[in-house]
Amino acid sequence: MQKLLSRLGLTETLSGVGSGTWLPGQGCEVAAVSPINDKPFATVKCAAAREYDQIADQATEAFLKWRMIPAPKRGEIVRRIGLALRQAKEDLGALISLEVGKIRSEAEGEVQEMIDMADFAVGQSRMLYGLTMHSERPGHRMYEQWHPLGPVGVITAFNFPAAVWSWNALIALIAGNTVVWKPSSKALVTAAAIVNIVWKVLRENDLPDGIVNLAAGNRNDVGKRLLQDTRIPLVSATGSVAMGRQVARSVSERLGKTILELGGNNAVIVTKSADPDLAVRAIVFGAVGTAGQRCTTTRRAIIHESVFEALSRSLIQAYQQVRIGDPRKPETLMGPLIDKAAVDRMQDALKVVRNQGGRILYGGKKLSGEIFDAGTYVSPCICEAGPQMPIVGEETFAPILYLIRYSTLDQAIVIHNSVPQGLSSAIFSNDLLEAETFLSCAGSDCGIANVNVGTSGAEIGGAFGGEKQTGGGREAGSDAWKAYMRRQTCTINASGMLPLAQGIRFQVDPQEPT
Ligand code: NAD
Repeated sequence: MQKLLSRLGLTETLSGVGSGTWLPGQGCEVAAVSPINDKPFATVKCAAAREYDQIADQATEAFLKWRMIPAPKRGEIVRRIGLALRQAKEDLGALISLEVGKIRSEAEGEVQEMIDMADFAVGQSRMLYGLTMHSERPGHRMYEQWHPLGPVGVITAFNFPAAVWSWNALIALIAGNTVVWKPSSKALVTAAAIVNIVWKVLRENDLPDGIVNLAAGNRNDVGKRLLQDTRIPLVSATGSVAMGRQVARSVSERLGKTILELGGNNAVIVTKSADPDLAVRAIVFGAVGTAGQRCTTTRRAIIHESVFEALSRSLIQAYQQVRIGDPRKPETLMGPLIDKAAVDRMQDALKVVRNQGGRILYGGKKLSGEIFDAGTYVSPCICEAGPQMPIVGEETFAPILYLIRYSTLDQAIVIHNSVPQGLSSAIFSNDLLEAETFLSCAGSDCGIANVNVGTSGAEIGGAFGGEKQTGGGREAGSDAWKAYMRRQTCTINASGMLPLAQGIRFQVDPQEPT
């Protein structure tokens, strides 16, 4: 443990506050507890209110310098960050496993996602394109350009403690912004390890402190201040719908910008033409991967009545093969939930499922004995449920999969879209018309819609995010970079005259006496 922390430049008692060098962290102290064994492995000192202010000042000052560095040169710095992340991949993966309980291959996959984001951002740094327009006025030229915004606040959730930061920060950086990161209090050590790697690169390139800042802290000292801070023009927040409401309220109160990446309630529709093996494999990975703690976790399988029984049986058989245990062991497919409170919430939800008429077909038990004594392990659960059950509309952040029958595709789509969230969705079908209907404007209402691909495991090249209560934000690839910049429309007049648009005449003759 000590060796791992030391390789990442950390000690067992560490600060979670700094702008390039660590501040003392005079706010609250948080014990980093591993869900693997429920034991603390580090203590993190968080920001006091005045330390948050110091960091925000640094970020504001550094922005004035960073924005003047040409975007491709900023991209070069991000390229070097990507190289440093490659070197640290194994250690960071091990730390993510320890801190949030992900299996090693998913934890390393998360670091790979950061590396991919760095590569993507490098290319993007040469493609911050604006359009040109033809002016209606003679001798005039119009175009738009994109400028950086300022220090960008990034709030991250526990379940993607590394990748989500990179979706935001690496794009924000090439766009010319500085970054103030408030990580989840359940993943502070990972955040400290990441900024350590980034700071080293910045130092090696003679860049000032304040470009990448870490402000671990509680809601009063950091959370609230960040949301109300007029120095921070954009807050990108990833987490629950409840958190998103608070962020939206506070930031829009001061007319700041937000990017919201909130909860999902993702479904797979399995039609009668689907390849059942493909569907089962995708549903199991989507529902059980990361122990059901992904925003894109498959929470509902909406299955045609003609294949419902057979598919349910196959799913149960597949669930029986899921090896649950220490996520650091290569054979493990499902590790613990993040903490005991998450296990309690799962158990409570299953009581509600029963009360609302649902039937538990498999699993859902809190596990005990040996490693499971940590109190954080469960068996993944399959329930048969009716679409109208209120619990089905909620995101319980645990491996609970609801199986729902349908008879017509129209009905399946209505069921699919009947939840308040709108993140990721999928149809398994070998029927072109079914697939196209699902992808049409009358089909899935989600930000992500897949055909014969499950709901989780998105690639960084696309814009990631969802509709409705998922918040509407988009991050990572495609043109998501635009949200991190301000658009300026410019008109240049080389005509020597001053014609007005829309043919308006407004002329004063300076020779005429008034
Ligand atoms: P959470 O809402 O409890 O916390 C998320 C982050 O918000 C943490 O850093 C937390 O400290 C901070 N926070 C909470 N209230 C705040 C406030 N009032 N002011 C400022 N900061 C505040 O979520 P979690 O349990 O860490 O993560 C799980 C949730 O995140 C799930 O709902 C999941 O679907 C969602 N999530 C969404 C995406 C996405 O891209 N859509 C990605 C990952 C996770």
